[in-house]
Amino acid sequence: MDYESFFQDQLESLRAEGRYRVFADLERHAGDFPRATRHTAAGTDEVTVWCSNDYLGMGQHPDVLAHMHGAIDRCGAGAGGTRNISGTNHYHVLLEQELAQLHGKEAALLFTSGYVSNWASLATLAAKLPNCVVFSDSKNHASMIEGVRHSRAEKCIFAHNDPEDLDRKLAQYAPDRPKLIAFESVYSMDGDIAPISEICDVADKHGAMTYLDEVHAVGLYGPNGGGIADARGLSHRLTVIEGTLGKAFGVLGGYIAGSVALCDFVRSFASGFIFTTSLPPVVAAGALASIRHVRQAHELRARHQDRVATVRQRLDAIGVPHKPNPSHIVPVMVYDPVACKAISDTLLSKYGIYVQPINYPTVPKGTERLRLTPSPLHNDADIDHLIGALGEIWGELGLQRAA
Ligand SMILES: *Cc1c(COP(=O)(O)O)cnc(C)c1O
Repeated sequence: MDYESFFQDQLESLRAEGRYRVFADLERHAGDFPRATRHTAAGTDEVTVWCSNDYLGMGQHPDVLAHMHGAIDRCGAGAGGTRNISGTNHYHVLLEQELAQLHGKEAALLFTSGYVSNWASLATLAAKLPNCVVFSDSKNHASMIEGVRHSRAEKCIFAHNDPEDLDRKLAQYAPDRPKLIAFESVYSMDGDIAPISEICDVADKHGAMTYLDEVHAVGLYGPNGGGIADARGLSHRLTVIEGTLGKAFGVLGGYIAGSVALCDFVRSFASGFIFTTSLPPVVAAGALASIRHVRQAHELRARHQDRVATVRQRLDAIGVPHKPNPSHIVPVMVYDPVACKAISDTLLSKYGIYVQPINYPTVPKGTERLRLTPSPLHNDADIDHLIGALGEIWGELGLQRAA
């Protein structure tokens, strides 16, 4: 076989469909979110980032940076091993305690990333619970889908955010069979939010465990920043809450929070936890400082919501269509991969605004979009500039306006 031409042909078909991914080559500016320098073949230019998952700019917060500098001076670079073999640093232990508190759970367990936490935890739980059936929301993230697949457990997909469909599907299985319901709170691309309480009611009725991915909600919602379950007073109803340290907390890592026995079980059986070097202490220290700051940063959360509302109002005023939702994610809908990329390219090259186009397979074909994530650190001038640019581009390209 001609391997090289196989790879080239596959890439060519991605290009033809307008969904070949080109990464922006960025240098983020320490302490100056959302600014970055972009490198191109022609040189560099300055950009304002409008699509980051560092939702609160905590990745550039002085407290976080100071604690990371401190930790690197105390502990050096890497952890030096897996958690079991010399790689448990005191910062990991403190961070797991902090995460358990954040979610009002007995315990928490750290992973290399949110992706790995979903993949390893779901794979382990669904594989080890005897004859388990997993009920998975149809819009679940790739990391959960891969975890369930890896478990080889039977899987049943329920209609997105639909407790009635879930109820019907659960009823098809024997009452004594172990059942695990996997879903998200804030869905990352549409920004819609799950009916958590209703899903927990259905779970209770059928004796199912619940596993909630709060990756796009931790830090942002709830009196403590514990997520949507925290905001709705439901944390105690979920068997497992999963989150990331890489989005609103601005660093890197993933975790689950739950009972002592459940976390100890995953710790003891999950390959993706056991056989990998633990996070560098400096990363754990940064995440710890970030969570401690964010838990009491009520004004930061309020300012975040204010910026999101302002961007939505300004888009409405110029008729740029965006998908309404109750979260902080503002999907500007384009419905075409080529146009989506063209808008993104123009924003970047002409206006210094960076918004990555979102195409298949991240979203279904025909629902291509620009996913805006306003932060507390986007100022009025940034918003004016963004709205001005989108208005001009919508005019120049003759794009559809909202009513
Ligand atoms: C980003 C994401 C993850 C993975 O988290 P990382 O820490 O980035 O690996 C998991 N679930 C959802 C819904 C996500 O969007």
